[in-house]
Amino acid sequence: MSTDSKSPLWSLDTRLQRSLAPQEPGGEPLAPPIFQTSTYTTADLDLAAELAGAHHPSRYYTRYGSPNVAEVEAQLAALEGADAAIAVGSGMAAISAMLLSQLSSGDHVVAQNAHYTATLSLLTEWLPRQGVRVSQVDHTDPGAFAAAIQPETRLIHIETPTNPTMALTDIAAVAEIAKGAGATLTIDNTFASSFNQQPHALGADLVAHSATKFLNGHSDVTAGVVTGDAERMKAVWEYSRVMGPVLHPMEAWLLLRGLRTYALRMRRVNESAQAAAEALAADPRVAATHYPGLPSHPQHALAARQMTGGFGGMVAFELAGAGAEERYARALQTLKRVRLCAPAVSLGGMETLICHAASMIFANQTPAELEAAKISPGLIRLSVGLEDPGDIIGDLLQALP
Ligand SMILES: *Cc1c(COP(=O)(O)O)cnc(C)c1O
Repeated sequence: MSTDSKSPLWSLDTRLQRSLAPQEPGGEPLAPPIFQTSTYTTADLDLAAELAGAHHPSRYYTRYGSPNVAEVEAQLAALEGADAAIAVGSGMAAISAMLLSQLSSGDHVVAQNAHYTATLSLLTEWLPRQGVRVSQVDHTDPGAFAAAIQPETRLIHIETPTNPTMALTDIAAVAEIAKGAGATLTIDNTFASSFNQQPHALGADLVAHSATKFLNGHSDVTAGVVTGDAERMKAVWEYSRVMGPVLHPMEAWLLLRGLRTYALRMRRVNESAQAAAEALAADPRVAATHYPGLPSHPQHALAARQMTGGFGGMVAFELAGAGAEERYARALQTLKRVRLCAPAVSLGGMETLICHAASMIFANQTPAELEAAKISPGLIRLSVGLEDPGDIIGDLLQALP
């Protein structure tokens, strides 16, 4: 066995487990290295003891944090105007951490009738199993939130605009109601994006995103984030430490790279979505177009007040047709005829995605449930991407039956 390697007294098996990398002088990397390690070693045992008891250390053990996650969290907290951010492995991990970290058995929650589908399951199935009662209200009416407050109400959870009908919640009005009730206001800000809508400034206590969507923007990462004040975020991190919905270093690194073009992408998407919504609204084959940036949107004035950065990349529209079956068939025909827009769920990536709500999002709902949720059988959702807006609109108009 050769004796010229770093530790000649160790056998081959042992040396293979240790770093033999030369320590060379040189510059610092411009892009952050990926800390693809699950744990950190230190010869300083006082430091080791300190890290073991620390809040959210980034060089102790990767379920607790990592330098890549810490760097992306600093960007995300700044984007949202918050003290702190915790990044986790998906948007649903963020939403469940945000809610479950603040709630105990016996608490009451006020939420909306309309939410992201998995959030609805969390509210109607999983929270009740933990002894948390949930009331759901029409989110377009702030008075409905006030009327649902009970002595045990600990938290109000909102989402605006909603998926896929693009109806709005008045964030500032509901924040006043939450404050008056001594309740925490939480919000899913995914659809609007933090570029366009700043819920903390409007009074929300905790904000969650599916970072899978506009924040990463490239349809290649699943991630989530919660932001808020230092005290509430302590509980969110503690939840994440115990339940373990980790964002891995490589995913954090990709998310940070996606964020480099966030502002550029959101400006483009806001402009293209407005143009697409206007073109669809002007076409007689389309029965209704739902976009907060259209003056015809029933809450356009509220949208202008609270979506200060722009009206976002999500557009919904309904195909015209004599009855439910015809509208359903025409929507499917549109999806079959598109050449540029990609039929897919998810949103916020660089590609324009097109999705038929009744068959691709709400496949498990009955026609009666869809009608109650105001989901027309002809409803199509668009996530406008970064392509030339003329090409996107041209593709949609040639596809409409
Ligand atoms: C996608 C999405 C989620 C869930 O995010 P994942 O990253 O898929 O877990 C939650 N809320 C909204 C509004 C979403 O669009």
